[in-house]
Amino acid sequence: MTTQVTLIPGDGIGPSITAATVRIMKAAGADISWDEQVAGMAGVAKYGDPIPDATLDSIKRTRLALKGPLETPVGEGYRSINVALRKTFDLYANVRPARTMLPTGRYTNVNIVLVRENTEGLYSGIEHYVRVGDDPRAAAESVAIITRFGSERVVRYAFEYAVRHGRKKLTLVHKANILKFTQGLFLDTGRMVARDYAGQVEFEERIVDAMAMNLVLTPEKFDMIVTTNLFGDILSDQISGLVGGLGLTPGANIGVNGAIFEAVHGTAPDIAGKGVANPAALVLAACMLLEHIGDLDRATRVRHAVETTLSGGKSLTRDLGGTASTEEFTNAVIAAL
Ligand code: NAD
Repeated sequence: MTTQVTLIPGDGIGPSITAATVRIMKAAGADISWDEQVAGMAGVAKYGDPIPDATLDSIKRTRLALKGPLETPVGEGYRSINVALRKTFDLYANVRPARTMLPTGRYTNVNIVLVRENTEGLYSGIEHYVRVGDDPRAAAESVAIITRFGSERVVRYAFEYAVRHGRKKLTLVHKANILKFTQGLFLDTGRMVARDYAGQVEFEERIVDAMAMNLVLTPEKFDMIVTTNLFGDILSDQISGLVGGLGLTPGANIGVNGAIFEAVHGTAPDIAGKGVANPAALVLAACMLLEHIGDLDRATRVRHAVETTLSGGKSLTRDLGGTASTEEFTNAVIAAL
C-alpha cells in the first residue's frame, strides 16, 4: 500500500539532497507518495511563515515527514520551527543511529543507537534572571523538569526499538548520584520499565561523565543508549564524531502524533547551490523512515548500498575527502542497489 509522506526540501543544500534521496528511494522501489511542502526561508518566501499551516496540516494528515535542513530566520515575529513541530506532534524521542561506514575512520566497529528524551529536562524552557540589589541579572535560573510519564515513554520507546531491531543491550545514562531528584526519577523509572524486558534486552546504567570517556575508549561495547535531553544532545554529537562527522548522521523525531526524519546537519550555506553536498545523512534518515513504516528489507538494502558506495571510496563527496558531486554519489548508490 502506498504510504503518503510530507516532503520538506528545506533551505541551502536541502533541495539538492532531498532530490537525491527521492531518486534513491524511487530506484529502490519504495512505495511512497511525496506531498511536497515548504518550511524555513522557503516558507517565509511563500507564506511569510517559516512553518506554514499548510505544512503542519500536511504532516497532521500523513503523520510522517522527511525534512531537509531549515534556516531559522533571525528576528522577531517568526514562529520557532522546532517549537511548533515539537508541540504539534509531541516529538518526545530523538533517535540517532551512528555506525562506522568509512574504512578510513578512527574506529572500525561503532554501531550505536542513541535515544534522547526530546521534550523535558533542562530544555523545558523555564528560565529566568534573579535580581539582587540593583543588578536585574545578578543570577539566572533554569528549571529541569523530569516527569515519570516522560521518562517512561522514552525508555519504553528505546526498549521497543531494541526489540524491533534485534538490539541486545540498552544503557541508561544519568547523573543521579548528584541530581538525586530529577535524574533519580529518570533512573528509577528506567529500572521499572527494564523489568518488562528482562530476558529480552540487557539493561545497564552508566553515569554520564564515565559514559563520555567509555564512548571514546571502547565505543564497540555499546549498543543502544537512552538518556535525558541535555546529555542526549551532547553524547549524540560525540557519537557522530566517532563515525566521521555530521555528513553521515541521520536522526528521527518520534512523536505521539507523527514522526519527522532528517539529517543531523544544517543547510551548509557555504556549499549551497554548488552541487557538491553529501546526501548520505538524509538518505540514511529515509532508511529510518522505511523502517518506521515496516519496510525493513528495503531500508537494509538502501543502507547497504550507501555503505558499499562509501567503503568503495571512489564516489566520495568533498566533505569525506573525495571529489564526487551530489549527483555522482547518488548515481553510485543507485548502481550499488
Ligand atoms: P551546517 O551543518 O549547515 O554546516 C557545518 C559544516 O558542515 C559546513 O562547512 C558545511 O558545508 C558542512 N556540511 C554540512 N552538511 C553537509 C553535507 N551534507 N555535505 C557536505 N558538507 C556538509 O551547520 P551551520 O553552518 O552551523 O548551520 C547553517 C544553518 O543551518 C543555520 O541557519 C542553522 O540554523 C541551520 N541548521 C538547521 C538544522 C535543521 O534544520 N535540522 C540543523 C542544524 C543547523
